[in-house]
Amino acid sequence: MPDFPLLRKSPAGPFETVTEALGARSGKREPALSFEFFPPRDEAAAADQLWRSFDSLMEVSPDFVSVTYGAGGSNRETSLAVVERMATEIMTIGHLTCVGGSRASTAETIRRFEAAGVHSILALRGDAPKDNPSALLNGELKSALELVHLVRQTSSLEVGVAAFPEVHPESPHMEHDSMLLEMKQSAGATYAMTQLFFTVEAYTDLVASAKVAGATMPIIPGLMPVGNAAKVLRMAEMSGAAVPVELLKKLENASDTEARIIGMDYSIKLARDLIDAGAPGLHIFSMNLSKAALEVARGAGLCL
Ligand code: FAD
Repeated sequence: MPDFPLLRKSPAGPFETVTEALGARSGKREPALSFEFFPPRDEAAAADQLWRSFDSLMEVSPDFVSVTYGAGGSNRETSLAVVERMATEIMTIGHLTCVGGSRASTAETIRRFEAAGVHSILALRGDAPKDNPSALLNGELKSALELVHLVRQTSSLEVGVAAFPEVHPESPHMEHDSMLLEMKQSAGATYAMTQLFFTVEAYTDLVASAKVAGATMPIIPGLMPVGNAAKVLRMAEMSGAAVPVELLKKLENASDTEARIIGMDYSIKLARDLIDAGAPGLHIFSMNLSKAALEVARGAGLCL
C-alpha cells in the first residue's frame, strides 16, 4: 500500500490515444500513469528482461506505454517488433526520430508504425551520432517540427513532441523552446513529454513559459527513478539536466544501499510534488526494469 492517498484508483482504458487517456483521467481527477521502454539489443537476456519488466508493469494498469527509437533508425526493426507486441495489450506510443532521414523513408516508417497497431507517434529529431555529427545536415528532415508536419500529412496518427524543463542543450533559452512547442502544436501536436529533470520548479517554469507562448497542450513530466544513482547522474549529464546540489551532497559519501534509498525518496517526493503542481500524469522511464519504476508509482499513490 502506498503511504500516500491513492490518487489513481482503477484501470480506465483501453484508450486509443494519449489525448483520450489524459481526458478520461482528468475527468476523474486522477493523474495518468505510463512507462517508457527501449528495444533490447540482440541478446536474449536483454529481451527477457524487457518482457519480464513489461509484464510486471502491466499489472498496475498503466494508461499507455512508449518505446524508444534509435536516431537514424539504427534499431528500426526491433523497435517496430516491440511496439507491435505491446500494442496488442495496451496503447503504445512509437517514438520516431527523423535525423538523417528522407521524407519518403520516414513516411514509410510512419506507415509501418500504423500497421503495427500504433495510434500515437512521439515525433523527435534525434541526435546525430557522436562519430558523425554532420548526419544532422545530411538528411532531408532536419527538425522535429518537420516530422510533426510529415506525420500529419501522411497519416491520421496522433502526434506528441519532446519538451525540455532544463532547456534543450542547443537552445538559447526557454522562450525559444516554448515558441517551438507552440509551432509544433499549431502543426498538429496534441501533447508533449519531457526530458528527465530533478526539481518541480523546472517543470512548472516550463509549463508557464509554454503557456505564455500559446502552447497549451498537456505536458507530461518524464521521471527517471534514481534507483541507480551513478547511472542516473550519467544520464543527467548527457541530457544537460542539472542535479540539485543538496541531492549530490547526500549521495557523495553514501554507500550503494544508502544511495538507492536517498535517490528513491527523492524521486517519490518529486513525483508527488509534480502531481500536486497539476501535472496531467507521470511518464516513468523504466529503463526496462520494473522495481524502481513500481516503487515510484506506488510511492506517488498511482497504484497499489
Ligand atoms: P527539435 O525540435 O528539432 O529541436 C532540436 C534543436 O533544434 C533545439 O535546440 C531547437 O531549439 C532547435 N530547432 C528546431 N527547430 C527549430 C526552428 N524551426 N527554428 C530554430 N531552432 C529550431 N532520442 C532518440 O534518439 N530516440 C528516442 O526514442 C528519444 N526519445 C525521447 C523522448 C523524450 C520524452 C525526450 C524529451 C527526448 C527523446 N529523445 C530521443 C531525445 C531527442 O531526440 C533529443 O533531445 C533531440 O536533441 C531533440 O529532439 P527534439 O525533438 O526536441 O528536436
